[in-house]
Parts: sequence; structure tokens; C-alpha cells
Amino acid sequence: MKDKFRKFMTGRYGVDQLSNGLNVLFFILVILGILTRNNIILFLSLVPMIYNYFRMFSKNFSKRYNENRIYTNMMSPVYNFVDKIKYKFQKNKKRDKKKYKYYHCKNCGQELRIPRGKGKVTITCPICKHSFDGRS
Ligand SMILES: [Zn+2]
Repeated sequence: MKDKFRKFMTGRYGVDQLSNGLNVLFFILVILGILTRNNIILFLSLVPMIYNYFRMFSKNFSKRYNENRIYTNMMSPVYNFVDKIKYKFQKNKKRDKKKYKYYHCKNCGQELRIPRGKGKVTITCPICKHSFDGRS
């Protein structure tokens, strides 16, 4: 069975970034359709799904490749935006980890930053005023 499937898939395009986008679109439409009880939206969700399968099993590589290129070009501002946020987040964490220790408030979950090297301290959450002991 597995061999048969592999044989079937050889020479076929498979998945790429556009497939992921179509999957996301499919799920959004399904959820939207269920939430609004709208059968038209549910029916429309089949379009990205069928198109996704059509692309996966397609043998026309250059055409599929071009579609994906158009899609990634279109989405590049979104990708860049996400990358920027990720980069900023990672950079901040790395820089601050040497100077600060991070705790999560046990009461409300707020992230708290404590300066390192001060021994045992009582930490008071600025949001909910809950206080607990911790090591800096
Ligand atoms: Zn708190």
C-alpha cells in the first residue's frame, strides 16, 4: 500500500508554501461556515481543498512552481512582518537574560523581570499585587 502510494506520487508536484496557505484558508472557511451555519461558506471551503489536491497530484511542475512563486511574492510582506517580530522578540530575550531573571506570576501569569545577583527576594506582581519569594 505504501509502495503503491509512493509510486503514485513520483513525478507529481507535492506540497509547497501555497499548499499551506490553501490549508489555512480551508480551515478558516470551515470554521467560519460552522460558526455562522452558512452552507455556502462550507461549500466554498471545498474550493481551496480541491485546488490543493489538484496541485499536489499535478505533473505540471513549472506551472505549479510559478503559482507558488506568485503566492510567496504576494505573501512576502506578511512573512517579513512575522520574521521581524520573531527577531525582535529573540533579540530582547537574549540581551536581557544576562541581566534579568524571568518569572511568571503564579496568580495572574504576568511575566516578571527581576535584576540578577541580588540573592533571595520577594517579588510583587505589578498587575495583581500577589507576592512570592524567588531567587535573583
Ligand atoms: Zn500577578
